[in-house]
Amino acid sequence: MKKFAIEYLSGVIASLQQKGKVFAPVKEKDGFYFREIADPGDATLDFYNTVMSPKHLFFPQTEDMIKYRINKEGADSAPVPINSGPQILFGVRPPDVRSFELMDLLFEEGGIIDPYWVDKRKNTIVIGYAFDSVDPLDFYNTFDIHAADPRGSDIFLVRKDRTVLARAFTGKGEALLDGLAGLENASAADEKAFEDAVKKGPGLKTRKLDLNGVAKKLEAIFDAPYWQKASMACLNCGVCTFVCPTCSCFDICDETLFRDGRRCRTWDSCMFTNFTLEASGHNPRTRAFQRFRQRINHKFSYYVSKFGVTSCVGCGRCSRYCPVNIDIFSVVEKAKEV
Ligand code: SF4
Ligand code: SF4
Repeated sequence: MKKFAIEYLSGVIASLQQKGKVFAPVKEKDGFYFREIADPGDATLDFYNTVMSPKHLFFPQTEDMIKYRINKEGADSAPVPINSGPQILFGVRPPDVRSFELMDLLFEEGGIIDPYWVDKRKNTIVIGYAFDSVDPLDFYNTFDIHAADPRGSDIFLVRKDRTVLARAFTGKGEALLDGLAGLENASAADEKAFEDAVKKGPGLKTRKLDLNGVAKKLEAIFDAPYWQKASMACLNCGVCTFVCPTCSCFDICDETLFRDGRRCRTWDSCMFTNFTLEASGHNPRTRAFQRFRQRINHKFSYYVSKFGVTSCVGCGRCSRYCPVNIDIFSVVEKAKEV
């Protein structure tokens, strides 16, 4: 195990930059965001959680797939090479680390392999970071994730006052940690402090949903007037889906300027009216409540039938950033009483 003083964070980031592109939390006007670090001094570990989840590292908001040039015969086209190169994702909170595994089910293990996702996952080292406080809107305990849960991280960081303790949990994490310049070896007391922090993680309590029977209940109340009531304030703005680490809807479109074009995929949202608009002009979800119901059902019922897990990690972002304060935890809790 290694350690460094928090004042030396920029030195650690600079050292990581020798190994690949580094993405870490950066303070911006309205909160913290995972950004590719150019200046090591921009990275911080003094944050609760980022506004957007780090899923864009593996699933960018816009990603080119094919480039083409239109000519008299048709078009010359070439796929955009898939090779992200080594990258390091630094300071990821435990629920976000777990979200990558849920997305693997869809993009890698569900029968269809998405080479764009797989390439970035394979090339990324994930450095997790324990929470030391709780936001009242989080509910990740629901999904058996705790505040200092190192599962899924290649390296996991724990704060001990002004010191950051770093332990490797995988072979690639160990190789990275051993090769970093300027880190000190941890003492036996540091090892104990790390273990104590991980043991104490479950003691930092978030809200907890009882999910027993929820998937079936949602199926049973599909036609209930509950959905109109629950979604009445919803603006269908899509914020909840864009900040969510486990929302994965996308659209693929061609953009052409004069003769040059690109086929790219971009995030989409089931909360948008046109999301389900078919080529015939028919739209099976014209009403706001239908789209709202879809989002809840997708996460808490359909994903459960398909993959056996709920597509949510309780990170609290959708509740924190919803402009009309719709709280997904309460929506599911109340659905149980219908
Ligand atoms: S963020 Fe809130 S208002 Fe916007 S679509 Fe989601 S639930 Fe509706
Ligand atoms: S649904 Fe909400 S709480 Fe659940 S993972 Fe997405 S943003 Fe987080």
